[in-house]
Amino acid sequence: MKYAGLLKQSLIDYPGEIAAVLFTRGCNFRCPFCHNPELLIKPRDPEPYDLEEILDFLRQRRGFLDAVVVTGGEPTLHAELPGDLRCMKDLGYLVKLDTNGSHAAMLEGLLQEGILDYVAMDIKAPVDYKKYQQVCRQISADDFFNVRSSIQLLLEAEIAVEFRTTVVPYLHNAEDIEAIAHYIKGAQQYTLQQFHPRVTLDPGYSNIAPYSSGEMEALADRCRPYVKEVSILNL
Ligand code: SF4
Repeated sequence: MKYAGLLKQSLIDYPGEIAAVLFTRGCNFRCPFCHNPELLIKPRDPEPYDLEEILDFLRQRRGFLDAVVVTGGEPTLHAELPGDLRCMKDLGYLVKLDTNGSHAAMLEGLLQEGILDYVAMDIKAPVDYKKYQQVCRQISADDFFNVRSSIQLLLEAEIAVEFRTTVVPYLHNAEDIEAIAHYIKGAQQYTLQQFHPRVTLDPGYSNIAPYSSGEMEALADRCRPYVKEVSILNL
């Protein structure tokens, strides 16, 4: 498939590994705080990278890069994703997928085939359809049921799994964050990602002040009884 972007090396997108990061276009959600809004609109020009170019790049970088991270947008909207990831895995790379969890059947297939080494799944809100609608603005009932199924799949998966929430004042309070942690009880990793108002899909969100580091720490403390490791990410 075609990719909208390629970050040739990153030290932060696959913990402990040097990774290339591929960006896919399009998303089925419309989170107002989305910091990649350019990936939600159709490009004026054709996408810059096709699979063959990406595979050539990865062949040349073998031994220097360890991993490939595919992020979005929402990568699982693309039916070609499993085939592409299989090619990357066959080159010897660790493969990480970032997803909003709305395509559980694809996720299940990728897990069963052993293609994925790491999945980071966003949990946008307490796992309740109304709450998800408030935060994602655009989400079908099917998407929501898929989100629930993906969480269950990942709680049982025998690979590295990280759940994460971008924490936004007015959308998430302490009870919401604790409810998410409770829902994923027993998970390996829950990351609370600090909201940054620099670039947002809804311009109104660029005026919202993020929680302070002390407030983020207090939120993390509320999650620690439920999840093995809780961290705060401040990009
Ligand atoms: S933040 Fe929301 S709208 Fe933006 S890419 Fe992620 S799921 Fe899609």
